[in-house]
Amino acid sequence: MITISEHPLRDRVRAFLADDPGRLLIGGRWTDAAGGERFVTLDPATGRPLAEVARGRAEDVAAAVAAARTALAGEWGRMRPADRGALLWRIADLMQEHLDDLAELETLDQGKSLRTSRFGEVPAAINQFRYYAGWPTKILGETIPTSLSRTPPGKEVFAYTRREPVGVVAAIVPWNSPLIMTAMKLAPALAAGCTIVLKPAENTPLTALYLARLLQEAGVPDGVVNVVTGYGGEAGQALADAAGVDKLAFTGSTAVGKRLVAAASGSLKRLTLELGGKSPALVMPDADLDATIEGISRGIFDNGGQVCVASARVYAHRDVYHHVVDGMAAFGERLRLGHGLDAASDLGPLVSEVQAQRVAGYIDEGRAEGATVVTGGERGGPAGTFYTPTVVTDVRADMRLMREEIFGPVAVVTPFDDVDEVVGWANDSPYGLAASVWTEGLSDAHRIAARLQAGTVWVNCHSFLGPELPKGGHKESGWGYENGPQGLENYLETKTVVMVI
Ligand code: NAD
Repeated sequence: MITISEHPLRDRVRAFLADDPGRLLIGGRWTDAAGGERFVTLDPATGRPLAEVARGRAEDVAAAVAAARTALAGEWGRMRPADRGALLWRIADLMQEHLDDLAELETLDQGKSLRTSRFGEVPAAINQFRYYAGWPTKILGETIPTSLSRTPPGKEVFAYTRREPVGVVAAIVPWNSPLIMTAMKLAPALAAGCTIVLKPAENTPLTALYLARLLQEAGVPDGVVNVVTGYGGEAGQALADAAGVDKLAFTGSTAVGKRLVAAASGSLKRLTLELGGKSPALVMPDADLDATIEGISRGIFDNGGQVCVASARVYAHRDVYHHVVDGMAAFGERLRLGHGLDAASDLGPLVSEVQAQRVAGYIDEGRAEGATVVTGGERGGPAGTFYTPTVVTDVRADMRLMREEIFGPVAVVTPFDDVDEVVGWANDSPYGLAASVWTEGLSDAHRIAARLQAGTVWVNCHSFLGPELPKGGHKESGWGYENGPQGLENYLETKTVVMVI
C-alpha cells in the first residue's frame, strides 16, 4: 500500500519556496532567464508543482561563463590557500546548520525518503566540503633534477612544477542524488581554485539553488559559483559547447556522456565523465546470507534503484540461489512506500512519470520474453510515479533487462555454478562502474575483486561511498575519478617551469 499524507513544511523551506527561487545566479546576482521563460519542478509523489524555475538557454550560459572567467582573474585567483580551505569549511558549517532544510527540500523535489536525505545524502554532501577543505594547503608541485645537455657551461638548470586551477568548470549533474552530486563537483573544484557554472538537472533544481544562497552567505566571491537551471538540450548543451569553459565535469547517462565527448572535442576541453552502470553482486556459497540479502537488497532498492552503482545484477551460487531470491523478495515486500516526508516511508516515488514508465517498460518487455517476476512489477501512487521493489528471475544474458541500466528498483537474480563462469558473466557488460562480492573466504574475495572489471569492488558491502574513496567507471561507465586526491586532480593543470640559473 502506498500512503501519502500532508506535511507541514519547515519554516525555512516554506520561505525559500515562497521567495521565488526561480532565478539564475550569475556573477553574484539573481536574475531572470534572458528569455524570461520558466519551467515547473514537481513533487513526484503527488504531481503537485513545487516552484517555478528559470529556463536558462545559451544567452544565460554565455553570461554565466563570462562571469566565471572574470572571477577567475579577480580576488578569487589571489585568495590564499588557507583562506580557500576556511571558506570550504564555512560552507560545510552552514550546510550543517541547514541540514534539515536541505534534506526536506531534497525529498520534496526528488522523492527519496527523508531518512535517506537526512541521514545519508545531505551529510555526505557536507562531508565533501569538509574533506576538500583540507586540500588547498596541500596542492604541491615538485622540483625536478635535470640532465639537459643544453645547459650552458657554468650554469645550472632549475626546474619545478606548479599546480594551477584548470580554469572555468562546467558542472552538469543528474537528478538521482542532486545535492551530493553537486557537492562532489563544487568542493574539489573550489579547493583547486577553479570557478564554476553549475547546471542542475531539470527535475531536481531546488537544493542547488538553496545551496547557492548558502555559498553567498559563506562569502564565496561573486562569479565563483554560477547556477544556470534549464534543460539538458538547451542550457546543458550550450555549456558543453561554450568556448570559455576549460573543463566539463559531467555525471549522468552514458548516452549524454558520449555527446559531451563530441562537444569537448572542439576546443579539447578537459572532460571527466561519471556515467551509468549495471553493477553485479556475486554471492558465494559461504556468504553470511542474512547480511548479504540485506546488503544487496538495499543496494538495489534504496532510492528506488535510482543509484548509479545499484546492485542490479545479482549472481547467487546455486546452493544459496533460492534462499537469496526468497530473501530479497521478502525484503522488498517489507518496504513501505509513501511520500518521502512520511516518517513511516522506506521508499518514495521514482523521480518522474517518465522514469516510472521507463521502468515499467523494461518489466513488461522482460515478462513478454519469459522472465519471471517474483515480486513487485507494479506502478502506483497518486501521481503514478511509485514502483514496487521488484525481483526478477529467468532473465537471459541477451535480454535488455540484463544488459541495460534500468535505474529503478529492479533486481535480476541468476544462479551460477563456478567462479570462472560468474566472473565472465559479471564482466559481460559495456559498463564497469562497481561490483560486490559476498563471501567469508579471504582468498576468494581478493582474487575475485582483482578479476572484476569495475571502478569499485566492495566485499561484504555495497554502495559504501565516501569523499576519501576514489570513484570512477571502467569501460562505458566513465572517464576519470571523483573523490580522494584523484578527484582534485581533475581540476588541476601542471605547469613546468625551467630556468637557467
Ligand atoms: P542525463 O544524462 O539524462 O542527465 C544528466 C544531466 O545532463 C542533466 O543535468 C541533464 O539536464 C544534462 N543533459 C542532458 N542532455 C544534455 C546535453 N545534450 N548536453 C549537456 N547536458 C545534458 O542523466 P539523468 O537521467 O539525469 O541521470 C541518470 C544517469 O546518471 C544514470 O545513467 C546514472 O547511472 C548516471 N549517474 C552516474 C553516476 C556516477 O557517479 N557514475 C552517479 C549518478 C548518476
